This record gives sequence, C-alpha cells and structure tokens, in this order.
Amino acid sequence: MTPAADPAALDAADPLARFRDAFARPGGVTYLAGNSLGPLPKAAAGRVARVVEVEWGESLVRGWNSHDWIGAPARVGGKIAGLIGAEPDEVLVADSTSANLYKLVVAAMQARPDRPVVLSAPGDFPTDLYMLEGAVRSLGGRRRLDLRSGEDLEPALSGEVALLVLCQTHYRTGAVRDMAAITARAQAAGALVLWDLSHSTGVVEVDLNGCNADLAVGCGYKYLNGGPGAPAFLFVARRHQDSLVSPLSGWFGHARPFAFEDGYEPAPGVARFACGTPPILSMTALECGVELALEAGAAASAAKARTLGDLFLQRVGDALALECPADGARRGGHVAFRHTDAHAIVQCLIARGVIGDYREPDVMRFGLSPLPLSYAEVARAADLLVEVVRTRAYDDPAFRHRAKVT
Ligand SMILES: *Cc1c(COP(=O)(O)O)cnc(C)c1O
Repeated sequence: MTPAADPAALDAADPLARFRDAFARPGGVTYLAGNSLGPLPKAAAGRVARVVEVEWGESLVRGWNSHDWIGAPARVGGKIAGLIGAEPDEVLVADSTSANLYKLVVAAMQARPDRPVVLSAPGDFPTDLYMLEGAVRSLGGRRRLDLRSGEDLEPALSGEVALLVLCQTHYRTGAVRDMAAITARAQAAGALVLWDLSHSTGVVEVDLNGCNADLAVGCGYKYLNGGPGAPAFLFVARRHQDSLVSPLSGWFGHARPFAFEDGYEPAPGVARFACGTPPILSMTALECGVELALEAGAAASAAKARTLGDLFLQRVGDALALECPADGARRGGHVAFRHTDAHAIVQCLIARGVIGDYREPDVMRFGLSPLPLSYAEVARAADLLVEVVRTRAYDDPAFRHRAKVT
C-alpha cells in the first residue's frame, strides 16, 4: 500500500462496497467487533421470521421434510465448504466449535491408538486448550497433551504425536499460521492435523484441500455473521470420513436415525459427526451470513480485510505498540495493539461510537469485517483511536469499570 492511502479512493474502487447495505448498521456506531460477533445480515431478520411463522407455525413437525430442515446441517455446511477450499460433502454444520473440537480430537486419537500425544500451542484460544484437556482425560491411559510454542512446536512432532491442533488465525495477535507448511510437516511425522478456522473463515483465504488438511472446525458467529451462538462447523477430509467415529454418538449421526434401533451405527460420510437435533432457527440466520460471504467470495473478502488492516495500521503509525503482524499477508481480519490502559481506551472509544474489544492482559483488538465496513469509517475510527491515546481522553474513572462480557 502506498504511504498515503486515500480512503475515499479505496471506497470508490471497492468491489465489495455494495455488501455494506446488506447489514444492519446502527446509527452512530462504527462496528469493529465483527471478529467477536458479526453484525446482522438484514436478510436474516426476514428469513428467520418466515421460518418461525410459516415453516414452524404452519408446517409444524412436517417442516423437517417439507422445508428440508433435516437437510440444513449438510446444506449450510456445503456452502461453507466453498469458503474454505473443501468439497461440499466434507463440511457439516453442528453444535459449537468447542463440541466439534471434542468430537474430532477424540475420534482422531482413537484412530491412532499407538500414539499417546496430542500436540498444541500455549496461548491458543482457551476453549481449544480446555477441550483438549478434557478429551485427553476422557481417553485415559497414556494419552497426554503437550503444549509447545513457536520454534519448539515443529521439533516436537515425533512418532508419539497422534494429532496436532492449532488455530490458523490467532484470536489475540491476528497472526496467521502457514497451514500448508505445518500440515505437511506434521503429516511427514505421521500425525493428523486439526485446524481451528474460527478467526479465519470469511476473512482469510483458506484452502483445506489444497493443503491436504485432515480435520478442521470453525465458528459461525464471527466473520460468517451467523448471529449470537450460531452453530459451528466441522470438516473431515473424505479420506478420513469412514475411519473416524464420533465419541458423541447421537442419533443424528446414526446411519438410520429414524429406524429407532438400539445399536449405534455411524452414518456414512461427515454426517456421522452430527449429534442431536439441529437448531433450525439459528441455522437459518447462519445460512444468510454464509450466502453473503459466498457471493462476495473468499479471495475478495480476504483482500479487502488486508487492505483495511494496512490502512488502519498506517493511520495509527507509531502511536501504539503493535500486537498483530504488520505484514498483511501474515495477518487475519483484525488489528491489535498493546497498551497498559488498553481496557480504558476501548471503553472510551465505545463511548464515542467505535466498538472494538479488549483482551487480557493489555490488548485492544479491532475487527475489520470486509463486507459491512467502508475504508472511510475504518480510517475515521483509527484517527479517533490515535486522538484518544494522544489526548489521554481514556484517563477517566468512567472508562475504568470492567463489564462482564466485552
Ligand atoms: C470463537 C472461537 C471459538 C468459539 O467456540 P464456541 O464453542 O463456539 O464458543 C473456538 N475457538 C476459537 C479459536 C475461536 O476463536
């Protein structure tokens, strides 16, 4: 990017500009927390209302077939596949990211009984590490979790490692790991790899099959804009689908769920990783977000997120310590800075209409969702951040309280 990027010129040339109007944009707010909870796609309000009033209200239980509710997990999963370099029959929408991690981790470990170790990285998203602890505990025996950071990670890939679990884009720093290289390295050591795409999907170009990925999970409510608590997704490469078995062997993953048999027989394909009844209202909202992301295209979204990030960093300059990579090619959809008063700065910005967020211990994050945001508003927000820091406007007791959820 040139030293003096002009937001107005970038907006005028933005191929994704028309998507802004597809989202609710409450007045007086610049929303830079789409990496935490994506904004509302306007179509979702009407579509959910129709499913409630017409499909549920009038079709009642018949809706499972007449409105293909039963097909929603595979249908929406098939659409997400188009954003992450997967085939439609490799992706399923189900449960939460945490639950999907558990299912895939246990299944992968059970498929590698001779290898005791699941390897991951300290500082990755907490639920990932917690679920790994729980998975290892439930597997019992010699199984153990090994956490290695940075340069210690790859040397730890030995014949003992059954599975490597990593977040592709880091939730705090926004740094993007090299999926192709790490996957190849782990597979050369005989391990499987599970990628958490929660902070990547919809904002970073992901090519699972191009990287020969084994397993992945991801979140529906961040850059896919699926709504609060939207169901998550999971990916199982075709070559693994018939050898992995879900430890949460619920009836929706049964080969014949409506035969009401006593014994469990896993469904063929990725469908075996379903567990219980899918949340149709939440899936309806998620599908609206996913359709917008598909229409925009993963490459164009990733390119805009990078340029938005470059613009933001350029305007902040050296006013704040950088927590995210400066290089857009190594950065996900948010920018992050460190400051001892990061929490108060974020509160001060929220009071001025710019919603970002804070992460322990001293990091402020600004999510740059490519579809709902313009370059001009992102530039204004960055300028406001610099002004708040420079004038110490955050240095006020009003901004020092701690909310429960931020
Ligand atoms: C947001 C996020 C999750 C969310 O997990 P839930 O079970 O949906 O609450 C998991 N992992 C990562 C890396 C995330 O960023």
